[in-house]
Amino acid sequence: MDRRKFTQFFIAVLLITAPPSRAQHKADVRTANQLRDIIYYLASDSLEGRRTGSEGERKAGDYIINFYKERGIGPYKDEYRHPFHFIYGKEIVETTRIKIGNNTLDLKNEAFPLSFSATKHVSGDILPDVMEDGSIWMISLYADQDEANNVHFDAEKAMFDRTRDAQKHGATGIVFYDAYGSKWPPSFNGLSTNESVDIPVVFLSHIAYKKYVPAPDTFGADSTKPKAGLVADLDITIKKTERIGTNIAAYIDNKAPYTVVLGAHYDHLGRGEDGSSLYSGTEPLIHHGADDNASGSAALLEVAAWVKKHKKLRHYNYLFINFSGEELGLLGSKNFVKDEHIDSIHTAYMLNMDMVGRLNDSTHSLELGGIGTSPAWGTLLEKPNKEFKISIDSSGVGPSDHTSFYHEGIPVLFLFTGTHKDYHKPSDVADKINYPGEVEVIKYVEEIVKKMDTEPKPHFTATKQTSLGKVNFKVTLGIMPDYSYQEGGVRVDGVSENKPAKNAGIKEGDIIIQLGDIKIQGMQSYMEALSKFKAGDKTKVTVKRSGQQMVLPLEFLK
Ligand SMILES: [Zn+2]
Repeated sequence: MDRRKFTQFFIAVLLITAPPSRAQHKADVRTANQLRDIIYYLASDSLEGRRTGSEGERKAGDYIINFYKERGIGPYKDEYRHPFHFIYGKEIVETTRIKIGNNTLDLKNEAFPLSFSATKHVSGDILPDVMEDGSIWMISLYADQDEANNVHFDAEKAMFDRTRDAQKHGATGIVFYDAYGSKWPPSFNGLSTNESVDIPVVFLSHIAYKKYVPAPDTFGADSTKPKAGLVADLDITIKKTERIGTNIAAYIDNKAPYTVVLGAHYDHLGRGEDGSSLYSGTEPLIHHGADDNASGSAALLEVAAWVKKHKKLRHYNYLFINFSGEELGLLGSKNFVKDEHIDSIHTAYMLNMDMVGRLNDSTHSLELGGIGTSPAWGTLLEKPNKEFKISIDSSGVGPSDHTSFYHEGIPVLFLFTGTHKDYHKPSDVADKINYPGEVEVIKYVEEIVKKMDTEPKPHFTATKQTSLGKVNFKVTLGIMPDYSYQEGGVRVDGVSENKPAKNAGIKEGDIIIQLGDIKIQGMQSYMEALSKFKAGDKTKVTVKRSGQQMVLPLEFLK
């Protein structure tokens, strides 16, 4: 049988044997079809996974803006596009030169600086495996042929650890080299989380090593001393990569004192270039992000069109935000809140939809987050819901953009139909979406928006933050670090109740720069510092607050 016919046959069988679905109104069918159009477009190959700052993100943004325009929903503060600048990863600046002897090496095939290298210029004699105080060291990356052929050997970690050690012993620069011809040589990793060191560090490929570095015995009898003639000249500049993402915001101004924010992120992982992909193949593939979060983006558009049409909803203003940069650490929502001065005085509540397209038809499970952020949400749940088996999470802090609003003291609500095996993989595609199921989610959101429009501005309540990272230490400080912060130190995004940080007086927005004797450059040194303490230890923590340094006494709980 021909494959196309087989499909037709298969559909026919399905139609006959499928159980009678719940009676759907014509309007629901229309909504499901519209959702299908939007999600198929946003998750299509032509948008290439909607990576933040990419052409695909721009196309998705155009589509979203067009939708708002067609429904007569105007822009927020005169512009639909609200761009934000951010720093993500590192890159090699073109002026970088690596010279061995008189040869300038090709930065593609012969040598490259490590992403944790200092931006610095040094030159001096080198000789393989000679390590003297005050000179550039030349170190064989692999101990032997076996190590060079070991796919599990973590070259970057090995080089980072040795660099830190070499730095302590007076090396002024390091040239790592591959003497064995590894099948898996390292390459420049701009996303490395290793913090910068104080000396230039480069890697020499096997080809370059053979081509430019003479065998030690040709240096003469006393091969332990570097000779003039083999000079390394390392002029390295590494910079942080600056990028631009764009939030899309539309607004219905009812001249009301308070505004309701409805949001969903529309960015996704592109081809996985920025990390956080769970795809294990080697060939880069488009991550379609149909559920994550074309589903929420489409739902937001449908809800916006409904709010616009529903003339009775006039007690609040309505702000619809399609965030970008979510996958890189809630960057779009953080920047929007900051740049547009979103505050708890003018904002009634924020409702966020992230991954609402995979309602399971047998469990009907819907997760509601942020329930603890306002007593108003409790009354919502008193009425039993026929469509969903609702599981609740009280915390205002979660893995999506509502978190940025919760940190401003705004009640939040987060809707999510649950995770699945296609999560953050290229296989999160449009034909796996449960369209009638998503229509039910949208109707539920509309029900909430409608009910809340008749209620006074909801009160905010802070929630307990339970999970603060997966790493197990003997002690905890009780902060939520800002993982996107890259300007030195650890920026505090949230502080847990009754934990050492809170007791010491650390506040949201503080930058931790020293813990005990250890200077904190970033997350890595923060984790290392934390691992040195045990329960009951007393020490001091230094923070920067509004440019001022403060030293606070700190006690780890028993
Ligand atoms: Zn995601």
